[in-house]
Amino acid sequence: MDCIFCKIVAGEIPAKKVGESAHAVAFPDINPVAPQHVLVIPKRHIASLNDVTDWSVMAHVYELAGKVARETGIDKTGWRAVINTGRDANQLVHHIHLHVVGGRQMEWPPG
Ligand code: AMP
Ligand code: ZN
Repeated sequence: MDCIFCKIVAGEIPAKKVGESAHAVAFPDINPVAPQHVLVIPKRHIASLNDVTDWSVMAHVYELAGKVARETGIDKTGWRAVINTGRDANQLVHHIHLHVVGGRQMEWPPG
């Protein structure tokens, strides 16, 4: 399958892993939008939030996100967990990924 994030999981594309569990992996976003910007993905290919059937996988994703937040200190200052889904949300990579963003003051609503 021609999926860039599956290739990162398989080690075929280099990424500096900042966290890993049995079912999820975390690595820095190549184009960070904040001082801390990490992507957390399930190791198994799931295209989007619309395609999740086994929700226990998402528990592993959020568990690893929480660990990353604690390790980078943004659990203290605040952080955002975002999953863009589909066209209107500008989902560009079709392997579900949780953006973990922090380290600066953010605004609401998002653009
Ligand atoms: P989204 O718009 O939610 O689909 O976000 C996709 C994200 O993946 C963007 O923030 C990209 O900067 C990021 N990205 C794309 N390719 C890579 C890569 N090889 N390594 C790390 N992050 C990537
Ligand atoms: Zn994939």
